Amino acid sequence: MILVLEKGITQVKKSQLKSILAEKGYMVHEPGGSGQNILGVIGKKNLTKEFLMSIEGVEDVVPISTAYKLVSRQMKQEDTIIRIGNVEIGGDKITIVAGPCAVESREQAMIIAKEVKKYGATLFRGGAFKPRSSPYSFQGLEEEGLKILAEVREVTGLRVVTEITSPMHADLMMKYVDVIQIGARNMQNFELLKCAGRMGKPVVLKRGLASTIEEWLMSAEYIAAEGNRNIILCERGIRTFEPYTRNTLDLSAIPVLKQLTHLPVLIDPSHATGIREKVSPMARAAIAAGADGLMIEVHHKPEEALSDGPQSLYPKQFGRLIRDIYVIAPVVGKQLIHDYTGYSSENRDSLSTLFSGRALSEWETQGIESGISRKEKRVVYLGEQGTFSHKAAIQYFSSDVENYPVPSFRDIFEHVKNGSADFGIVPIENSLAGSIHENYDLLLEYELFITGELSIRVIHNLIAHKDSKLEDIKQVFAPTPALQQCKRFLDANPDIKMMPVNATASAVKSVVESGNLESAAIGSVEAAQLFGMAVLEEAIEDNPRNFTRFVVIERQMANKEESGKINSSPKSSIVFSTSNKPGSLFEVMKVFSENQINLVKLESRPIHGKPWQYMFYADLESDLTNSSAENVIKAIEQNTEFFRILGSYSCGKNGID
Ligand code: PEP
Ligand code: MN
Repeated sequence: MILVLEKGITQVKKSQLKSILAEKGYMVHEPGGSGQNILGVIGKKNLTKEFLMSIEGVEDVVPISTAYKLVSRQMKQEDTIIRIGNVEIGGDKITIVAGPCAVESREQAMIIAKEVKKYGATLFRGGAFKPRSSPYSFQGLEEEGLKILAEVREVTGLRVVTEITSPMHADLMMKYVDVIQIGARNMQNFELLKCAGRMGKPVVLKRGLASTIEEWLMSAEYIAAEGNRNIILCERGIRTFEPYTRNTLDLSAIPVLKQLTHLPVLIDPSHATGIREKVSPMARAAIAAGADGLMIEVHHKPEEALSDGPQSLYPKQFGRLIRDIYVIAPVVGKQLIHDYTGYSSENRDSLSTLFSGRALSEWETQGIESGISRKEKRVVYLGEQGTFSHKAAIQYFSSDVENYPVPSFRDIFEHVKNGSADFGIVPIENSLAGSIHENYDLLLEYELFITGELSIRVIHNLIAHKDSKLEDIKQVFAPTPALQQCKRFLDANPDIKMMPVNATASAVKSVVESGNLESAAIGSVEAAQLFGMAVLEEAIEDNPRNFTRFVVIERQMANKEESGKINSSPKSSIVFSTSNKPGSLFEVMKVFSENQINLVKLESRPIHGKPWQYMFYADLESDLTNSSAENVIKAIEQNTEFFRILGSYSCGKNGID
C-alpha cells in the first residue's frame, strides 16, 4: 500500500505513524526520501484501508496492484539510479559493463580491463565461479579469480562485477568485489536471492532462461525485501524455438520493464546471441529501445578463451560499438557515461553531511553505503533549471557534482576562473543554427581549457498553461536560436508573435508567472514538468536532427595520466591567427595534412580592434598534448602569429554524423 500523508506533516507525527505501523509488524519504506509525502507499507498480514485511514496524518491509501511491491513503479515513480563509486546506472546515463566471460589469469584480466576502459567501459566483469552446463568445462579460478578482480580495480580504477553462485561465497564477495551478479540459472534460487539482499552490495539480476518478466521482478522483490534496493536488471535472452542464435533477445522487455519498475535495465547481447557478429547490432538496438546500459563480453584472444569465446568481441570491435552508442544515446535523450575527471570517490563521508543536509531516501542511503563522495565539486551552467544546459550538466557529471545556474555566458567563464565553480558547461554549436560565437570569443578571452564535450538532442515543445489551447496562443517566448529552429511551425501559425528571451527555461517561467493563457514558451519536456505546465504541441523543431554540442571548461587541462584516462578518440581544440599573406592558412592546413590529422571543424571570428583580420578555431582528431605531437605543435607555431591549445579531450563523434 502507498500511504499519502497530509501536507506539511511534521517529522514527529510521521515518526509516530511509522512506529504504529512497525508495532503492527508492517515494513515501512520512504521511496522518495523523508522530504516526500508518501510512505510505502508492506506486511504479510492483510492491511485494511480502514485501519490505515484511521491513523493520524494519513490522507489517502493507494493499493499497489502488482505482486511485487518494493520494485514496482507504483511504489516509486522516479527512476532508481544505482551508484557504484562514481559510476551511476540508470536515469539519463548509459553505463557499459565489459570484460571476459571468465577471469582466466592475471595477465588476461589486466589486458582486457585496460582495453575496455580505454573504449569507455566503467565497470569490469569477469566470472570467478562459473555456472557451466558441463561439469567438465572450466569452472573458474574461484578465490584466485576474485583476487585478480580486486587487483584490476586497484590498477585501473574500474569497479568490478562478478557472479555469485552460492551463499557460501558471500564473505569472499564482500571482500573482493563491488557488484555481484546473479546468473540466469540462479534467478529463482531464493536462498541466493535472500543472501544477496542481506549482503547489501549492488546486484545485477539476470533474467532466467525461461522466466517471465513477472517472475523476474518477483526475484528482484526477494532481494529488495531483505533491504537491498541496489538492483540492476539484466536481460540476456530467453529460450525460444529459434536455434540460430544461442537465445532470443527480448528487447520488448525494456519498455515493459520501464513501465513496471523503477529499477535500471541492462542488456547483455553477448549471451543473448552467442555469436560475435550479432552482438553489436543488438547492442545498438537495445540503447535505441531505452536500455540503461550494456553488459558485453570482450576478449583479446577469443579463439583461446576458456569460455564463451565465440560471442566475445575483439577490443577494437568493442571500441567501434561504443562509438556508435555514443552517437545513439543523445537521440534517445541519454548520455554515455563519462569518467569526467580523475576525481575519485575516496572521500566517503558520514550520511548527515551529504546532500546539503537534505534527508536521504532509502535508495540514496544505500548508494552511499556502496561508496559515493561528498558534493565537493561544482558545475555552473547558463539560465535556469530545466534548460538544455542544465540537462547537459546533469548528464555529463555524476550527481555528486553540484550544479547551479548563472545569467550569462560570461558569468560561466568568470565563475570557473575565480574558482566559484570547478567546471563550466557551455553550448558551442547547434547542428541547425550553427556556432554560438559569443562562446568562441570567451574561450579566447579567458585562459580556461576545454576538457570534455557532449551533445544533447534538442526537442522543442510548445509549452503553455494547462487550460490554454493552441488557437488561443498570441505570443511565444523563446531564445532566438530556438525561434529559428522552429521556423516552420511559426510560419504556419502567423498569428503567434515571437518574443525573444535569454534561455528556454526563463521563457517557460515568464509564461508561468504572467498567468496569461494566450502566452506560450518553447522549451523541453523537463522544463514543462518542472513548472507544472502542459505541452500543447510536441517536437516543433523544423528538423529532428537538432543537436547542441556543449564543451566542459576547467582551469586546468585534462590530466590524462592522473585520471588514468586513455584517449581512445582524442580531439583537440585550437585557436590561431595567421599573417595576412597569400597561402598562410594553407600552410597551417598543410601541417595537419602532412601529419594525417583530420580537421573536423574550422571557424573564423573577427579579431577585436583589427578590422578584417581573423582568429581561426579548429577542432582536430588528435591529442596535441601527447608528447608525440611536439613536432606538429612546432610546425603550427612556425606558421602562425598566435596559437593556443584550448584543450585536448576524449570524444566520440559529436552525435550528428
Ligand atoms: C555470464 O554473464 O557470464 C553468464 C553466465 O551469464 P548468464 O547467467 O546470463 O548465462
Ligand atoms: Mn559468458
